[in-house]
Amino acid sequence: MEQIHISERIRQMAASQTLAMSQKSSELRAAGVDVINLSVGEPDFDTPSHIKEAAKKAIDDNYTRYPPVPGYMDLRQAIARKLRDENGLDYTPQQVVVSGGAKQSLSNIILAMVNPGDEVIIPVPAWVSYIEMVKLAGGVNVLVPAGVEQDFKITPQQLEYAITERTRMILLCSPSNPSGSVYSREELEAIVAVLARHPEITVLADEIYEHINYTGSFTSLGSFPEIAGRTVIVNGVSKAYAMTGWRVGFMAGPVEVAKAVTKLQGQTTSGISSIAQRAALAAYEGSQDCVAEMREAFRRRRDLVVRLAREIPGLKVNEPQGAFYLFPGVSAYLGKRFGERVIADDNDLCMYLLEEAHVATVSGSAFCLPGYIRLSYAASDEALAEAMRRIGEALGKLV
Ligand code: PMP
Ligand code: GLU
Repeated sequence: MEQIHISERIRQMAASQTLAMSQKSSELRAAGVDVINLSVGEPDFDTPSHIKEAAKKAIDDNYTRYPPVPGYMDLRQAIARKLRDENGLDYTPQQVVVSGGAKQSLSNIILAMVNPGDEVIIPVPAWVSYIEMVKLAGGVNVLVPAGVEQDFKITPQQLEYAITERTRMILLCSPSNPSGSVYSREELEAIVAVLARHPEITVLADEIYEHINYTGSFTSLGSFPEIAGRTVIVNGVSKAYAMTGWRVGFMAGPVEVAKAVTKLQGQTTSGISSIAQRAALAAYEGSQDCVAEMREAFRRRRDLVVRLAREIPGLKVNEPQGAFYLFPGVSAYLGKRFGERVIADDNDLCMYLLEEAHVATVSGSAFCLPGYIRLSYAASDEALAEAMRRIGEALGKLV
Protein backbone atom coordinates (compact mmCIF):
# COMPACT_ATOMS: atom_id res chain seq x y z
CA MET A 1 0.00 0.00 0.00
CA GLU A 2 1.48 3.36 -1.06
CA GLN A 3 1.88 6.01 1.58
CA ILE A 4 2.34 9.74 1.18
CA HIS A 5 4.21 11.40 4.01
CA ILE A 6 3.69 15.10 4.54
CA SER A 7 6.17 16.50 7.01
CA GLU A 8 5.05 17.66 10.41
CA ARG A 9 6.43 21.14 9.70
CA ILE A 10 4.13 21.55 6.72
CA ARG A 11 1.18 19.99 8.52
CA GLN A 12 1.65 22.59 11.26
CA MET A 13 1.76 25.44 8.76
CA ALA A 14 -1.33 27.54 8.03
CA ALA A 15 -1.99 28.24 4.34
CA SER A 16 -1.60 31.86 3.22
CA GLN A 17 -5.05 33.38 3.72
CA THR A 18 -4.41 36.33 1.42
CA LEU A 19 -3.68 33.91 -1.41
CA ALA A 20 -6.51 31.56 -0.37
CA MET A 21 -9.16 34.31 -0.41
CA SER A 22 -7.92 35.52 -3.75
CA GLN A 23 -8.09 31.98 -5.12
CA LYS A 24 -11.65 31.60 -3.80
CA SER A 25 -12.65 34.83 -5.44
CA SER A 26 -11.13 33.70 -8.80
CA GLU A 27 -13.06 30.42 -8.56
CA LEU A 28 -16.36 32.23 -7.98
CA ARG A 29 -15.55 34.56 -10.86
CA ALA A 30 -14.83 31.57 -13.13
CA ALA A 31 -18.22 30.18 -12.11
CA GLY A 32 -19.83 33.38 -13.43
CA VAL A 33 -20.24 35.33 -10.15
CA ASP A 34 -19.44 39.04 -10.41
CA VAL A 35 -16.95 39.15 -7.51
CA ILE A 36 -14.95 42.27 -6.66
CA ASN A 37 -11.62 41.05 -5.35
CA LEU A 38 -10.26 43.30 -2.59
CA SER A 39 -8.45 40.40 -0.94
CA VAL A 40 -4.97 40.06 -2.38
CA GLY A 41 -2.70 43.08 -2.10
CA GLU A 42 -1.07 43.86 -5.40
CA PRO A 43 -0.95 46.95 -7.59
CA ASP A 44 -3.55 46.72 -10.36
CA PHE A 45 -1.25 48.56 -12.78
CA ASP A 46 0.79 46.94 -15.53
CA THR A 47 4.57 46.95 -15.18
CA PRO A 48 5.90 50.18 -16.81
CA SER A 49 6.99 49.65 -20.45
CA HIS A 50 10.68 50.56 -20.06
CA ILE A 51 10.98 47.71 -17.54
CA LYS A 52 9.21 45.24 -19.82
CA GLU A 53 11.47 46.30 -22.71
CA ALA A 54 14.56 45.60 -20.57
CA ALA A 55 13.32 42.06 -19.96
CA LYS A 56 12.72 41.46 -23.68
CA LYS A 57 16.19 42.76 -24.44
CA ALA A 58 17.66 40.50 -21.73
CA ILE A 59 16.32 37.47 -23.59
CA ASP A 60 17.80 38.70 -26.88
CA ASP A 61 21.10 39.46 -25.12
CA ASN A 62 21.13 35.86 -23.87
CA TYR A 63 20.72 36.44 -20.17
CA THR A 64 19.70 32.82 -20.11
CA ARG A 65 22.27 31.07 -17.95
CA TYR A 66 22.49 30.57 -14.18
CA PRO A 67 22.93 33.98 -12.60
CA PRO A 68 25.18 34.41 -9.53
CA VAL A 69 23.43 33.10 -6.39
CA PRO A 70 23.19 36.51 -4.60
CA GLY A 71 22.21 38.31 -7.83
CA TYR A 72 24.03 40.07 -10.70
CA MET A 73 26.69 42.46 -9.44
CA ASP A 74 25.30 45.43 -11.41
CA LEU A 75 21.86 44.88 -9.86
CA ARG A 76 23.34 44.67 -6.37
CA GLN A 77 25.30 47.86 -7.11
CA ALA A 78 22.12 49.60 -8.28
CA ILE A 79 20.35 48.49 -5.08
CA ALA A 80 23.25 49.78 -2.94
CA ARG A 81 22.98 53.12 -4.82
CA LYS A 82 19.21 53.22 -4.26
CA LEU A 83 19.73 52.59 -0.54
CA ARG A 84 22.31 55.39 -0.40
CA ASP A 85 20.44 57.98 -2.48
CA GLU A 86 16.89 57.36 -1.26
CA ASN A 87 17.43 56.12 2.27
CA GLY A 88 20.83 57.52 3.29
CA LEU A 89 22.16 54.00 4.01
CA ASP A 90 25.69 52.83 3.47
CA TYR A 91 25.77 49.26 2.12
CA THR A 92 28.26 47.61 -0.21
CA PRO A 93 26.94 45.25 -2.92
CA GLN A 94 28.41 42.39 -0.86
CA GLN A 95 25.81 43.18 1.80
CA VAL A 96 22.94 42.85 -0.67
CA VAL A 97 21.28 39.57 -1.73
CA VAL A 98 18.59 39.40 -4.41
CA SER A 99 15.85 36.79 -3.90
CA GLY A 100 12.55 35.62 -5.35
CA GLY A 101 10.48 38.48 -3.96
CA ALA A 102 10.61 40.13 -0.56
CA LYS A 103 8.83 36.99 0.63
CA GLN A 104 11.86 34.80 -0.06
CA SER A 105 14.19 37.43 1.41
CA LEU A 106 12.21 37.39 4.66
CA SER A 107 12.03 33.63 4.82
CA ASN A 108 15.75 33.30 4.03
CA ILE A 109 16.70 35.75 6.79
CA ILE A 110 14.46 34.10 9.36
CA LEU A 111 15.76 30.62 8.49
CA ALA A 112 19.33 31.91 8.54
CA MET A 113 19.06 33.76 11.86
CA VAL A 114 16.40 32.19 14.10
CA ASN A 115 17.20 29.10 16.17
CA PRO A 116 14.58 26.83 17.71
CA GLY A 117 13.23 28.49 20.86
CA ASP A 118 14.35 32.01 19.88
CA GLU A 119 11.65 34.61 20.43
CA VAL A 120 10.69 36.93 17.60
CA ILE A 121 8.61 40.00 18.44
CA ILE A 122 5.93 40.78 15.87
CA PRO A 123 3.56 43.72 16.29
CA VAL A 124 0.07 42.68 15.16
CA PRO A 125 -1.83 43.06 12.94
CA ALA A 126 0.99 41.64 10.82
CA TRP A 127 1.24 40.26 7.33
CA VAL A 128 0.12 36.61 7.21
CA SER A 129 3.45 35.02 6.32
CA TYR A 130 5.78 36.30 9.07
CA ILE A 131 4.35 34.05 11.74
CA GLU A 132 4.50 30.91 9.63
CA MET A 133 8.09 31.66 8.60
CA VAL A 134 9.12 31.98 12.25
CA LYS A 135 7.32 28.73 13.08
CA LEU A 136 9.10 27.00 10.19
CA ALA A 137 12.42 28.04 11.73
CA GLY A 138 11.31 26.68 15.12
CA GLY A 139 11.15 30.18 16.59
CA VAL A 140 8.53 31.44 19.02
CA ASN A 141 6.25 34.27 17.91
CA VAL A 142 5.69 36.95 20.52
CA LEU A 143 2.76 38.98 19.24
CA VAL A 144 2.29 42.56 20.43
CA PRO A 145 -1.20 43.84 19.60
CA ALA A 146 -1.90 47.39 18.44
CA GLY A 147 -5.52 48.15 17.49
CA VAL A 148 -7.17 51.05 15.71
CA GLU A 149 -7.27 53.14 18.93
CA GLN A 150 -3.45 53.39 18.78
CA ASP A 151 -3.39 53.68 14.99
CA PHE A 152 -2.07 50.09 14.81
CA LYS A 153 1.38 51.15 16.08
CA ILE A 154 3.07 49.66 19.12
CA THR A 155 4.43 51.90 21.87
CA PRO A 156 7.98 51.72 23.25
CA GLN A 157 6.46 50.52 26.56
CA GLN A 158 4.77 47.60 24.83
CA LEU A 159 8.05 46.68 23.18
CA GLU A 160 10.00 46.89 26.43
CA TYR A 161 7.44 44.65 28.09
CA ALA A 162 7.64 42.02 25.31
CA ILE A 163 11.43 41.66 25.46
CA THR A 164 12.81 38.69 27.40
CA GLU A 165 16.26 37.13 27.61
CA ARG A 166 15.23 34.84 24.73
CA THR A 167 14.28 37.65 22.31
CA ARG A 168 16.48 37.50 19.22
CA MET A 169 14.58 39.46 16.59
CA ILE A 170 11.88 42.07 16.05
CA LEU A 171 10.04 42.28 12.76
CA LEU A 172 8.73 45.74 11.88
CA CYS A 173 6.77 46.65 8.76
CA SER A 174 6.18 50.32 7.92
CA PRO A 175 4.18 51.34 5.93
CA SER A 176 2.27 48.38 7.26
CA ASN A 177 0.38 45.56 5.66
CA PRO A 178 -2.47 45.19 6.70
CA SER A 179 -3.10 48.46 8.57
CA GLY A 180 -1.49 51.02 6.25
CA SER A 181 0.03 52.75 9.29
CA VAL A 182 3.37 54.51 8.94
CA TYR A 183 5.68 55.07 11.90
CA SER A 184 6.98 58.66 11.99
CA ARG A 185 10.67 59.36 12.55
CA GLU A 186 9.90 60.35 16.15
CA GLU A 187 7.97 57.13 16.78
CA LEU A 188 10.83 55.09 15.33
CA GLU A 189 13.32 57.00 17.47
CA ALA A 190 11.39 55.98 20.58
CA ILE A 191 11.34 52.31 19.46
CA VAL A 192 15.05 52.47 18.60
CA ALA A 193 15.82 53.92 22.05
CA VAL A 194 14.46 50.69 23.56
CA LEU A 195 16.27 48.47 21.06
CA ALA A 196 19.53 50.32 21.67
CA ARG A 197 19.54 48.81 25.19
CA HIS A 198 19.25 45.26 23.75
CA PRO A 199 22.21 44.58 21.44
CA GLU A 200 21.25 40.88 21.12
CA ILE A 201 18.11 41.75 19.13
CA THR A 202 18.24 41.80 15.31
CA VAL A 203 15.90 44.30 13.67
CA LEU A 204 14.22 42.96 10.56
CA ALA A 205 12.67 45.91 8.69
CA ASP A 206 10.15 45.07 5.97
CA GLU A 207 10.19 48.23 3.85
CA ILE A 208 8.39 46.82 0.79
CA TYR A 209 5.74 49.61 0.93
CA GLU A 210 8.35 52.37 1.22
CA HIS A 211 7.09 54.23 -1.84
CA ILE A 212 3.39 53.79 -1.18
CA ASN A 213 3.49 56.34 1.58
CA TYR A 214 1.37 59.51 1.72
CA THR A 215 3.17 61.22 4.60
CA GLY A 216 5.80 62.75 2.32
CA SER A 217 8.65 61.25 4.31
CA PHE A 218 10.05 57.80 4.87
CA THR A 219 12.59 56.85 7.51
CA SER A 220 14.38 53.55 7.06
CA LEU A 221 15.14 51.65 10.26
CA GLY A 222 18.61 51.16 8.84
CA SER A 223 19.31 54.88 9.29
CA PHE A 224 19.63 54.81 13.11
CA PRO A 225 23.31 54.43 14.07
CA GLU A 226 22.39 52.76 17.41
CA ILE A 227 20.99 49.71 15.60
CA ALA A 228 22.34 50.00 12.03
CA GLY A 229 24.92 47.23 12.53
CA ARG A 230 22.22 44.68 13.43
CA THR A 231 19.40 45.80 11.17
CA VAL A 232 18.42 43.84 8.08
CA ILE A 233 16.37 45.69 5.46
CA VAL A 234 13.98 43.93 3.11
CA ASN A 235 12.56 45.65 0.06
CA GLY A 236 11.91 44.89 -3.60
CA VAL A 237 10.24 45.88 -6.83
CA SER A 238 6.82 44.21 -6.38
CA LYS A 239 4.85 47.14 -4.98
CA ALA A 240 6.79 50.24 -6.05
CA TYR A 241 7.03 49.23 -9.73
CA ALA A 242 3.93 47.03 -10.08
CA MET A 243 6.11 43.94 -10.54
CA THR A 244 4.50 41.34 -8.27
CA GLY A 245 4.75 38.58 -10.88
CA TRP A 246 8.45 39.08 -11.60
CA ARG A 247 9.47 37.90 -8.12
CA VAL A 248 12.40 40.14 -7.28
CA GLY A 249 13.15 41.32 -3.76
CA PHE A 250 16.31 41.90 -1.77
CA MET A 251 17.86 42.04 1.67
CA ALA A 252 20.59 44.40 2.81
CA GLY A 253 22.33 43.94 6.12
CA PRO A 254 25.44 42.71 7.91
CA VAL A 255 27.78 40.82 5.58
CA GLU A 256 27.50 37.69 7.76
CA VAL A 257 23.75 37.63 7.13
CA ALA A 258 24.24 38.19 3.40
CA LYS A 259 26.66 35.24 3.33
CA ALA A 260 24.32 32.98 5.33
CA VAL A 261 21.39 33.85 3.07
CA THR A 262 23.51 33.23 -0.03
CA LYS A 263 24.51 29.82 1.34
CA LEU A 264 20.85 28.91 1.96
CA GLN A 265 19.80 30.18 -1.45
CA GLY A 266 22.67 28.28 -3.09
CA GLN A 267 21.24 25.04 -1.72
CA THR A 268 17.58 25.77 -2.34
CA THR A 269 16.68 28.04 -5.26
CA SER A 270 20.00 29.27 -6.75
CA GLY A 271 20.05 32.83 -8.06
CA ILE A 272 16.63 34.06 -9.18
CA SER A 273 15.41 34.41 -12.77
CA SER A 274 18.05 36.13 -14.91
CA ILE A 275 15.41 37.94 -16.97
CA ALA A 276 13.52 39.24 -13.95
CA GLN A 277 16.81 40.54 -12.52
CA ARG A 278 17.52 42.53 -15.70
CA ALA A 279 14.00 43.99 -15.46
CA ALA A 280 14.60 44.94 -11.82
CA LEU A 281 17.83 46.68 -12.82
CA ALA A 282 15.86 48.79 -15.31
CA ALA A 283 13.35 49.60 -12.55
CA TYR A 284 16.07 50.92 -10.25
CA GLU A 285 18.09 52.69 -12.93
CA GLY A 286 15.27 54.13 -15.06
CA SER A 287 12.97 57.09 -14.50
CA GLN A 288 11.18 57.03 -11.15
CA ASP A 289 8.16 58.97 -12.46
CA CYS A 290 6.03 55.82 -12.59
CA VAL A 291 6.48 55.33 -8.83
CA ALA A 292 5.10 58.79 -8.05
CA GLU A 293 2.23 58.39 -10.52
CA MET A 294 1.11 55.11 -8.96
CA ARG A 295 1.42 56.56 -5.46
CA GLU A 296 -0.87 59.44 -6.42
CA ALA A 297 -3.44 57.02 -7.82
CA PHE A 298 -3.33 55.02 -4.57
CA ARG A 299 -3.70 58.19 -2.50
CA ARG A 300 -6.82 59.16 -4.45
CA ARG A 301 -8.30 55.72 -3.90
CA ARG A 302 -7.39 55.83 -0.21
CA ASP A 303 -9.37 59.06 0.12
CA LEU A 304 -12.32 57.51 -1.74
CA VAL A 305 -12.41 54.28 0.23
CA VAL A 306 -11.97 56.02 3.62
CA ARG A 307 -14.82 58.44 2.80
CA LEU A 308 -17.14 55.61 1.72
CA ALA A 309 -16.20 53.38 4.67
CA ARG A 310 -16.94 56.22 7.11
CA GLU A 311 -20.47 56.41 5.69
CA ILE A 312 -21.11 52.81 6.81
CA PRO A 313 -22.39 52.83 10.39
CA GLY A 314 -20.46 50.77 12.90
CA LEU A 315 -17.15 50.48 11.03
CA LYS A 316 -14.14 51.83 12.92
CA VAL A 317 -12.02 53.51 10.27
CA ASN A 318 -8.66 55.24 10.66
CA GLU A 319 -6.92 57.10 7.85
CA PRO A 320 -4.09 54.87 6.65
CA GLN A 321 -0.96 56.78 5.69
CA GLY A 322 0.56 54.19 3.39
CA ALA A 323 0.36 50.83 1.55
CA PHE A 324 -2.99 50.15 -0.15
CA TYR A 325 -5.07 48.62 2.61
CA LEU A 326 -7.92 49.72 4.82
CA PHE A 327 -8.32 47.75 8.05
CA PRO A 328 -11.66 48.75 9.57
CA GLY A 329 -12.85 47.45 12.93
CA VAL A 330 -16.02 45.37 12.49
CA SER A 331 -16.80 44.37 16.08
CA ALA A 332 -20.18 46.20 15.91
CA TYR A 333 -21.35 43.52 13.47
CA LEU A 334 -20.09 40.46 15.30
CA GLY A 335 -22.73 38.35 17.01
CA LYS A 336 -25.38 39.54 14.53
CA ARG A 337 -27.33 37.33 12.12
CA PHE A 338 -28.65 37.20 8.60
CA GLY A 339 -31.62 34.83 8.74
CA GLU A 340 -30.22 31.58 10.13
CA ARG A 341 -26.64 32.62 9.51
CA VAL A 342 -24.74 33.79 12.59
CA ILE A 343 -21.76 36.09 12.16
CA ALA A 344 -19.75 34.98 15.16
CA ASP A 345 -16.38 36.43 14.19
CA ASP A 346 -14.47 38.29 11.50
CA ASN A 347 -13.87 35.07 9.52
CA ASP A 348 -17.64 34.55 9.32
CA LEU A 349 -18.06 38.17 8.28
CA CYS A 350 -15.56 37.78 5.41
CA MET A 351 -17.34 34.67 4.16
CA TYR A 352 -20.70 36.48 4.46
CA LEU A 353 -19.35 39.45 2.46
CA LEU A 354 -17.96 37.10 -0.17
CA GLU A 355 -21.12 35.03 -0.52
CA GLU A 356 -23.77 37.75 -0.05
CA ALA A 357 -22.06 40.94 -1.26
CA HIS A 358 -19.64 39.23 -3.66
CA VAL A 359 -16.73 41.23 -2.30
CA ALA A 360 -13.57 39.33 -1.33
CA THR A 361 -11.73 40.65 1.74
CA VAL A 362 -9.42 39.04 4.33
CA SER A 363 -10.25 38.65 8.02
CA GLY A 364 -8.30 40.45 10.73
CA SER A 365 -7.76 37.03 12.32
CA ALA A 366 -5.55 36.10 9.36
CA PHE A 367 -3.31 38.97 10.47
CA CYS A 368 -3.56 37.90 14.14
CA LEU A 369 -5.87 40.75 15.14
CA PRO A 370 -9.49 39.55 15.26
CA GLY A 371 -12.35 42.02 15.01
CA TYR A 372 -11.20 43.66 11.77
CA ILE A 373 -11.26 42.99 8.04
CA ARG A 374 -8.72 44.03 5.41
CA LEU A 375 -9.70 45.64 2.13
CA SER A 376 -7.08 46.15 -0.55
CA TYR A 377 -7.91 49.34 -2.43
CA ALA A 378 -5.52 48.59 -5.31
CA ALA A 379 -8.56 48.48 -7.61
CA SER A 380 -10.32 50.90 -9.95
CA ASP A 381 -12.42 53.76 -8.53
CA GLU A 382 -15.55 52.16 -10.01
CA ALA A 383 -14.81 48.77 -8.46
CA LEU A 384 -14.10 50.40 -5.08
CA ALA A 385 -17.28 52.48 -5.11
CA GLU A 386 -19.36 49.44 -6.03
CA ALA A 387 -17.61 47.24 -3.45
CA MET A 388 -18.24 49.74 -0.67
CA ARG A 389 -21.89 50.06 -1.73
CA ARG A 390 -22.28 46.27 -1.60
CA ILE A 391 -20.51 46.00 1.76
CA GLY A 392 -22.71 48.74 3.25
CA GLU A 393 -25.83 47.02 1.95
CA ALA A 394 -24.82 43.57 3.22
CA LEU A 395 -23.84 44.89 6.66
CA GLY A 396 -27.14 46.77 6.82
CA LYS A 397 -28.99 43.45 6.50
CA LEU A 398 -27.42 42.06 9.69
CA VAL A 399 -29.60 42.19 12.77
N1 PMP B 1 6.03 41.95 2.93
C1 PMP B 1 4.78 42.45 2.95
C2 PMP B 1 4.36 43.25 4.12
C3 PMP B 1 3.91 42.23 1.88
O1 PMP B 1 2.68 42.72 1.89
C4 PMP B 1 4.35 41.46 0.78
C5 PMP B 1 3.42 41.21 -0.36
N2 PMP B 1 3.10 39.91 -0.56
C6 PMP B 1 5.65 40.95 0.82
C7 PMP B 1 6.47 41.21 1.90
C8 PMP B 1 6.21 40.08 -0.26
O2 PMP B 1 6.41 40.79 -1.44
P1 PMP B 1 7.01 40.09 -2.72
O3 PMP B 1 5.91 40.12 -3.74
O4 PMP B 1 8.15 40.96 -3.13
O5 PMP B 1 7.43 38.73 -2.35
N1 GLU C 1 1.16 41.24 -0.06
C1 GLU C 1 -0.01 40.71 -0.63
C2 GLU C 1 -1.10 40.52 0.40
O1 GLU C 1 -0.87 40.67 1.55
C3 GLU C 1 0.24 39.56 -1.55
C4 GLU C 1 -0.20 38.18 -1.17
C5 GLU C 1 0.79 37.52 -0.29
O2 GLU C 1 1.89 37.23 -0.76
O3 GLU C 1 0.45 37.33 0.88
O4 GLU C 1 -2.21 40.29 0.01
